[in-house]
Amino acid sequence: MNKCSFCGRSEKDVNLLIAGISGHICDSCIGQAHNIVNEEAQSHSTFSTDELKLKKPQEIKEFLDDYVIGQGNAKKFLAVAVYNHYKRLKQVIDDDTEIEKSNIALVGRTGTGKTLMARTIARMLDVPFTIVDATVLTEAGYVGEDIESILTRLLQAADYDVKAAERGIVFIDEIDKIARKGDNPSITRDVSGEGVQQGLLKLLEGSVINVPPQGGRKHPDQKMIPVNTKNILFICGGAFDGIDKKIANRLNTAVVGFNAAKETVGIDRENMLQYIAPQDLKSYGLIPEIIGRLPVLTYLDPLDEAALKRILTEPKNSIIKQYKKLFKMDNMELTFDNTVFDFIVTKAIEFNLGARGLRSICEQIMIDAMYDAPSENKDKIRITLKYAKTKLSSIDGERLRVA
Ligand code: ADP
Repeated sequence: MNKCSFCGRSEKDVNLLIAGISGHICDSCIGQAHNIVNEEAQSHSTFSTDELKLKKPQEIKEFLDDYVIGQGNAKKFLAVAVYNHYKRLKQVIDDDTEIEKSNIALVGRTGTGKTLMARTIARMLDVPFTIVDATVLTEAGYVGEDIESILTRLLQAADYDVKAAERGIVFIDEIDKIARKGDNPSITRDVSGEGVQQGLLKLLEGSVINVPPQGGRKHPDQKMIPVNTKNILFICGGAFDGIDKKIANRLNTAVVGFNAAKETVGIDRENMLQYIAPQDLKSYGLIPEIIGRLPVLTYLDPLDEAALKRILTEPKNSIIKQYKKLFKMDNMELTFDNTVFDFIVTKAIEFNLGARGLRSICEQIMIDAMYDAPSENKDKIRITLKYAKTKLSSIDGERLRVA
């Protein structure tokens, strides 16, 4: 009878026995070994604050400029917040002044670059980064993911290097979806709303959380890893659909009276988000404690035609640059007539797809060329407006919609 070479238990006493060259290992020994490896990795963490490449806010903004089009206001706020955050990590507390954490709230329509911005910052800083969707979070005990799962993902992104994870960045998307529905907090039990916000508060304000290393539901045998969230930077993004009305209401009520007419004149109704203030998040249903823990509040502008066109071609890894590179790898030079870009942008707007739709539209236009060209031994491929139109003629907007 085969036995585990580590614990000696026989095949019938274990769930799984894996054979090696000259021995066997059982499932429970694999689990234990895995934990030992994780613990070793933590104790040898190579992460140190001294190594953080601290770029100045203007340099951070310039780095963002290479990847994110427009959004000057958000870039500036983010650059300063990140700079201060990492200064805070380096601070020596020798007096009463402790620099507090500057978690960030990004408000902007979907597809305007919130995630991209957070991702780009993380890439620049070379710290563990993870994106979580607030909609999957529920209170402990309900179906869905526990709040702790956010940190499980961060740990995974850090290869279980706890020290590195404790200085990472977490982007929580769709934070608006956990807003309290309705104004009265005690009407019903709100599984996805206030309870989750309370849970999230613990993470945002900084505390030691016991994290199940494999995620999922907690079960008694799983060994928890304590993670201190004090130095984790949280960036919370949300579209906050309909918040423009709340902003408008506030602005209107604020300006009734003597100066009303004069002050409302200057308001840009197309882009109400630029006037966002913490109290608007409160009227939307975020609890004041959460808002207090997101001291940096900034907005993203809606993307107009000009911005979409720039997104197509300008960023360092723009879609068009990627296609050109793909063809270049086959020694083919790919060119586009300028009118093709206008056409793609018009279609993205017509189908109401925003920046996210640019890629799916391009894919439709490029698929045949990408299929045929490698076999045709051409050295130049030119995409004309006529070609682009034919390729897109049979496609409707729904098919191009991306989740
Ligand atoms: P959000 O998080 O705001 O919903 P994303 O950041 O996920 O939007 O944007 C979706 C995609 O659209 C990005 O991956 C990127 O390709 C493109 N995109 C959106 N906004 C911009 C921008 N301002 N500059 C460059 N690309 C953008």
